[in-house]
Amino acid sequence: MYDYLIVGAGYAGSVLAERLARDSGKKVLIVDRRPHLAGNAYDHPDAAGILVHKYGPHIFHTNSKEIFDYLSQFTEWRAFEHRVLALVDGQLLPIPINLDTVNQLYGLDLDSAGLEEFFAKVREPVAHIRTSEDVVVSTVGRDLYEKFFRGYTRKQWGLDPSELSAGVTARIPTRTDRDDRYFGDTYQSMPRHGYTRMFENMLDHENITIQLNTDYRDVKDAVPYREMIYTGPIDEFFDFRFGKLPYRSLEFRHETHDREVFQPRPVVNYPNDFDYTRITEFKYLTGQQHPKTSIVYEYPRAEGDPYYPIPRPQNAELYSQYQALSEDTPGLYFVGRLASYKYYNMDQVVGQALTLYAKIAQKKGGWKNTAAPVPA
Ligand code: FAD
Ligand code: UDP
Repeated sequence: MYDYLIVGAGYAGSVLAERLARDSGKKVLIVDRRPHLAGNAYDHPDAAGILVHKYGPHIFHTNSKEIFDYLSQFTEWRAFEHRVLALVDGQLLPIPINLDTVNQLYGLDLDSAGLEEFFAKVREPVAHIRTSEDVVVSTVGRDLYEKFFRGYTRKQWGLDPSELSAGVTARIPTRTDRDDRYFGDTYQSMPRHGYTRMFENMLDHENITIQLNTDYRDVKDAVPYREMIYTGPIDEFFDFRFGKLPYRSLEFRHETHDREVFQPRPVVNYPNDFDYTRITEFKYLTGQQHPKTSIVYEYPRAEGDPYYPIPRPQNAELYSQYQALSEDTPGLYFVGRLASYKYYNMDQVVGQALTLYAKIAQKKGGWKNTAAPVPA
């Protein structure tokens, strides 16, 4: 008899499996329908022996010491600050927009104070920021919005920024100095031996049984268990009872090139040209030395594996119907990016899973209950 059947061996499922087994001595069966651990963070050596991320670039960043310390039990780290260029008007310019972006784009020589004045002139005041268009035009004005955000967003989401909640483009800061890092978080690192190795270490426990290539629907009636933790798409779990929740998908085109370096930064974004949104060169992320180099193109798709929940009010409303249903089912927990229908980064999913673990442990009483951080 298993105490828990956990569906999905990504961050959400693996953190809960680890905590329940190691901290509470529970017996856990974790299943994933894919042939590997780590969910969308899965990495592996490709045919050339270069470590690549199968489902697109994954860069770890967090402001939470608790989350960083938790994962540090399972990996060493390699410090890595991510940097991105965007191809705009024939030039490769830093994104997030900063002092150099504006000076190079318009041939100006502003300092930070000058850039603040520039933004003050071009920004369009918006009384209530609701959409992803509002966020950008109210900060940097319409021309920069159109050059850097409108085309990229329409391509990535199949929607205009005015149709998406503010949080989508609000992920990208605006800077008036020359800081060209993509993230501003306190901790920015890559697992030294890759994500998959970190997950293997996390799940290496005598109380954890792993079954890959297994849909939970094929085992749920055959295997005895007390409670279930589900980390897949929430609408699928309930057989799309209230209708399908929209997810955005991607097609990944992986290539290896017979030269040492492909592009000048780890990622180059293509907001206005080509069908892909960005190209990632993996050796920058991992620090691997190799005479060849491997890259991945991302082509946004309406159909395919669900990668992104689509943040907009009508989808949040549909999700809340599923959420209400999920809260009505004792002994069943929903956690993670697809089960919560939230555009979460890896660290936020770790935080959400640790918080759920603390709740479960507290409810049962009598277990050793380690403090859980609040999700970032
Ligand atoms: P998942 O990783 O999706 O795991 C869920 C698992 O459940 C999957 O493996 C799935 O196969 C399994 N499953 C579903 N249904 C069933 C079923 N019926 N039976 C059995 N198994 C099932 N975050 C960052 O912090 N930094 C980044 O740079 C970053 N880049 C990203 C780039 C891309 C292209 C994408 C798509 C995401 C990126 N993320 C990034 C987000 C990150 O991938 C997620 O936050 C994280 O992987 C979510 O973990 P999860 O466990 O919730 O879900
Ligand atoms: N975005 C954009 N132009 C860019 C980078 C980002 O318009 O050059 C917008 C776009 O809507 C994108 C969102 O900001 O989907 C979030 O970008 P991020 O790089 O965080 O996306 P992710 O890595 O999650 O795909």
